[in-house]
Amino acid sequence: MNELFEGLKALTADTFPKTCACCGAVFADQAQYIAGTVPIDPAKTGFKALYDDDDQASVGWFRNCKCGSTLLTYHLDRRDVSERGLRRRERFAELQQRLSVLGWGADEAREALLGVVLRGEVNPRLREALQQKN
Ligand SMILES: [Zn+2]
Repeated sequence: MNELFEGLKALTADTFPKTCACCGAVFADQAQYIAGTVPIDPAKTGFKALYDDDDQASVGWFRNCKCGSTLLTYHLDRRDVSERGLRRRERFAELQQRLSVLGWGADEAREALLGVVLRGEVNPRLREALQQKN
C-alpha cells in the first residue's frame, strides 16, 4: 500500500458515515450512500460548484435522500474554516502536490482527485499511480 493510497483514504475518511438530518437514515460508506440516495436531477451528476467566484476548490456533491431532503457529502470550500474543512483542503493540496511530483499537471491532478472524493471514481492514470511502489 503506497503513500498515495493512504492519502486518498485519509481524504475521504471524514465523509462517512453520513446521517440524513431529516429522516435519520445512516449511510456507512460511499456504496451505501449511492444506493440509498438519488440524483437531484437524473440528467446531471449532482457535482457542482458551490460558489460562482473563481475559487476552483469550492465544489460539492449533492444527492437527494429517499425522504426528499438534499444531502451534501464531500465538499471543498475555502470559506469552510472549521478544523475539518482546513484539514480537508490541506490533504487535497498535499495529494495534488504529490501527483505533480509524478509529472501530473495541476488541473489533471485536481480532476482525478475530485473524481475520487466526489464520485468514488479512480481514473486509469490515477489507478496506475496507485499501483506503483513509492
Ligand atoms: Zn432522509
